[in-house]
Amino acid sequence: MNFDPYFVRPRQKIDLRNWEPDDTHAWKGSDKAVTELADLTAKLESLQEQLYCESKHRLLVVLQGMDTSGKDGVIRKVFEGVNPQGVRVASFKVPTPIELAHDYLWRVHSQTPGKGEMVIFNRSHYEDVLAVRVHNLVPENVWKKRYNQINEFERLLVEEGTTVLKFYLHISRDEQKERLLERIETPEKNWKFNPGDLEERKLWPEYMAAYEDVLNRTSTEWAPWYLVPADKKWFRNVLISSVIVETLKGFDMKYPTPEEDLAPYAARLRAGE
Ligand code: AMP
Ligand code: MG
Repeated sequence: MNFDPYFVRPRQKIDLRNWEPDDTHAWKGSDKAVTELADLTAKLESLQEQLYCESKHRLLVVLQGMDTSGKDGVIRKVFEGVNPQGVRVASFKVPTPIELAHDYLWRVHSQTPGKGEMVIFNRSHYEDVLAVRVHNLVPENVWKKRYNQINEFERLLVEEGTTVLKFYLHISRDEQKERLLERIETPEKNWKFNPGDLEERKLWPEYMAAYEDVLNRTSTEWAPWYLVPADKKWFRNVLISSVIVETLKGFDMKYPTPEEDLAPYAARLRAGE
């Protein structure tokens, strides 16, 4: 699919009120999208295998969004079928005392992908200019410096060979209400409900302002954001999957070829060795 409309250009001014969370672009319904996702899933599977075998590129996928925006759903659905050997999820929760004793990027840097690896960040260093800002966990003059620090940190990753893709899952406050109710009213989903989510929900406008600053200040040539309308799960999935598949295709990967002729080994095995 054409995901260009959802690419946040560097220095583009984003006003989230102008971005419809239930936008589905040219797609009228989910049927075709579901077929397309199945096709993308198969492609992702083989591209990820090549990523792993080639052991040359590194891919970092950052997922950010409000509670219930679908970060876990993306991990489940978009990465269905990939080989767990080459893929890792890193979830960033409220920092531990040890993490808090360090700079905020310390816990993040150690989780970045190695060669051949794909790492998905479920939340990320962006919490340090989101939750931290909204809850006044550090003074303004401290979090304000972080946009530049984050851009420079990501520049380092990219210059050293990592590809960074960042997705902001944009849901409406109404859709969040439905999803929270579902978590409360479906026994199998109760475990996902956290009473604290209601406190976070009260801070919706503050979070939207903080997300706008993130999108406006940290979508760079080297590590761009995609603004993903996320009220419709099928649209969210197909959009993210398309971006990842296209990015991996761009690596122009090949299965490694052996440095020597392997035929003699086959001959030896057949001869009884
Ligand atoms: P969940 O992703 O639903 O398991 O929730 C994780 C919680 O940790 C969220 O409420 C985040 O806002 C919070 N969190 C993650 N990173 C940080 C951070 N650096 N500082 C403060 N809170 C954080
Ligand atoms: Mg949660």
